Amino acid sequence: MMAPDHPTALVVGAGLSGLVAARRLLERGWRVRFVEAESVAGGSVKTFRRDGFLIDTGADAMTEAYSRFLALVKEAGLGDQLAMSSNILGVIKNNRLIEIDPAHPIKALCSPILSTGGKLRFARGLFAIRKQIGATSAFGLRAHAALDDPMLDARQRSQDVFGEEVTKYLLDPILQLVAGARSDTITSLILPAALSSGSAKMVTLQGGLDILPTSLAATLPVEFDSRVVSIEEDRSAGGLQFRLETPSGPEDGIADVAIIATPIHVAARISPALHDAVGELLGELPTVGLITVSMAYARPTRTQAYLVNLPSVEGRSELALLLQHNKADDRAPRGSSLITTYLDDAAMMALENVDDDTIGADVRSYVESVMPELKGSHRFTHVQRWPYAGPYARPGYYRLVDEVARRLEQVPRIRLAGDFWAAGSMEAAVRSGEAAAEHIQRDFGRRHV
Ligand SMILES: Cc1cc2nc3c(=O)[nH]c(=O)nc-3n(C[C@H](O)[C@H](O)[C@H](O)COP(=O)(O)OP(=O)(O)OC[C@H]3O[C@@H](n4cnc5c(N)ncnc54)[C@H](O)[C@@H]3O)c2cc1C
Repeated sequence: MMAPDHPTALVVGAGLSGLVAARRLLERGWRVRFVEAESVAGGSVKTFRRDGFLIDTGADAMTEAYSRFLALVKEAGLGDQLAMSSNILGVIKNNRLIEIDPAHPIKALCSPILSTGGKLRFARGLFAIRKQIGATSAFGLRAHAALDDPMLDARQRSQDVFGEEVTKYLLDPILQLVAGARSDTITSLILPAALSSGSAKMVTLQGGLDILPTSLAATLPVEFDSRVVSIEEDRSAGGLQFRLETPSGPEDGIADVAIIATPIHVAARISPALHDAVGELLGELPTVGLITVSMAYARPTRTQAYLVNLPSVEGRSELALLLQHNKADDRAPRGSSLITTYLDDAAMMALENVDDDTIGADVRSYVESVMPELKGSHRFTHVQRWPYAGPYARPGYYRLVDEVARRLEQVPRIRLAGDFWAAGSMEAAVRSGEAAAEHIQRDFGRRHV
């Protein structure tokens, strides 16, 4: 079907996973058609700029444990943009912000977040599951599918190991932030995964997180504003036929293989073969939506924490508060603050018909109640809705993912990349893009290249 010395791959989606997949295939000599529905690259990694504030409206936090992501940053020539974020952690307890500074362990031990009994219980719990923590990677949870008990959620597992108090004030807010959903609705595997990366330091990119996808896209043949609507197998010719909607109208094309780097539900709509293979499982693989609300203030906060955990027992819809000016000093003009919160999936649905101003006003009054020093200095609020923010990893999710992976072997010419394989993260996206390109090269590359 194709010229034998130059196989063609279609890559769908210029989020991080698609960008890295396209890059790796091009490095190996493939011809690549690379198609992105939007007019910019990045997908869930977006930065909005206004009045000197840099707002990462989607993905926000990352750590030194993001090894593949950080390698890609350096490869893209952005190594000098890497910066350490504040590692001071905030926790809201009874509407009061309490700081824990890991650089001062004695002070951290005296923190009023947990009672003395709670602190001992935490240490005992860590010791009890140390082997599982050591063996778990947040980016490779599929490997632990057999341990993903469909009847056990993360909060229950945490309560069994650490007890009520530690769960309520320390672990519940971390679990919900990692999973993007309430801890009593998510897989218990998130507990060791979250604890395994707990000691990694927070890092970020100066200039906004979108500089990575933008820089990568600038070196790749991305066709923007073009949507893939179908990919069909052409069994007689041994390849794929695809259809695009482009700014100049529909277009048909052929490719030897495809990497679809979109959420799996989108991929199954595009490819009937994928739908036949995994369609019946998709209903059991829900996704989470989030609303990001970012507020700019003309005054600094008292706290130097970047990540402020918000236990669900505080009764709010926000999953956490992220103090962007403490993430990197370029996120807000000197002496100003930029606070971002995520509203959870339930709020996303409940607020579907509520306007952004109303949502922003409610979040703002809460933020100013825990950081009263900000009152009277509000500059603007930016609200962004993300109908898809990642997989909803319910108990038993990774068993299903394992089954999906097995069934996808029936469709060897199409590989999926994306954050569906692991707790949704930029690191998981990069790893999945690299893995998809690796598979394609292994299965189809040698014969051609
Ligand atoms: C609100 C929010 C907060 C997050 N917070 C964090 C965080 O703090 N830390 C972290 O590590 N991760 C975070 N994430 C997750 C992280 O951003 C994602 O896991 C990762 O960026 C996903 O990359 P991806 O390439 O798999 O998919 P996406 O970024 O979803 O990219 C998919 C791309 O495919 C394109 N596309 C879709 N359909 C088609 C089609 N038919 N034809 C052509 N193109 C198509 C889309 O336009 C999009 O550009 C967050 C995500 C969100 C939304």
